[in-house]
Amino acid sequence: MDFASERQGMVDEQLIPRGITDPAVLAAFRSVPREKFIDPQYQKLAYIDAPLTIGEGQTISQPFTVAMMTQLLELKTTDRVLEVGTGSGYQAAILAEIVKDGQVFTIERFANLATKAEKVLDYKNVKVSVGDGTRGLPDEAPFDAIIVTAAAPKIPQPLIDQLALGGRLVMPVGGEWHQEMIRIRKEKEGIKRERFGGYRFVPLIGEFGLKK
Ligand code: SAM
Repeated sequence: MDFASERQGMVDEQLIPRGITDPAVLAAFRSVPREKFIDPQYQKLAYIDAPLTIGEGQTISQPFTVAMMTQLLELKTTDRVLEVGTGSGYQAAILAEIVKDGQVFTIERFANLATKAEKVLDYKNVKVSVGDGTRGLPDEAPFDAIIVTAAAPKIPQPLIDQLALGGRLVMPVGGEWHQEMIRIRKEKEGIKRERFGGYRFVPLIGEFGLKK
């Protein structure tokens, strides 16, 4: 398989025509080998326009969804970013490419997914942990950006608390079958909230998300 040309095709056919314009996001997608984050039996599907299974009933999101959420974070190279829901580690790799002089903290509730992701995440600026990401990572806060890659009816309060002033948080919010992509921005005047269309994600299970 010619993964390198499939990767360029993914950017040119799935991302740019649908409105991904941030040059740093496009560069990250052109360079991160998505196939590395996918189990061998599905690797040939690495660049299809759809989510794929990664074990434990979880998924690596469709490339466009990863790109859209990343673009909404409006990252700077020095940002400290928290990802809730490491899954395969692909989103964390995209973030790490962009915040080259910053730091990515990513947390996953399934230890075996976190271990697998840690093995393929070849970045000095990524730290993987295992636990309930709905509590955030208070010892590492505040964060310039927080991305939650699983869905719940509301944004966990600890994550809002751990956002820096000027910080952005992106998360799918809604019921089990349908959610809206939400971005909040913490400003001096309060929390600004924006909506970016419908999605369907796996549930965010935890103390401040959905109960088991
Ligand atoms: N970002 C991932 C990637 O690039 O492959 C995709 C993540 S998948 C759509 C959502 C992940 O969130 C799953 O791996 C799931 O186990 C995890 N998750 C759900 N609730 C969680 C929680 N409270 N804390 C940490 N991870 C959680």
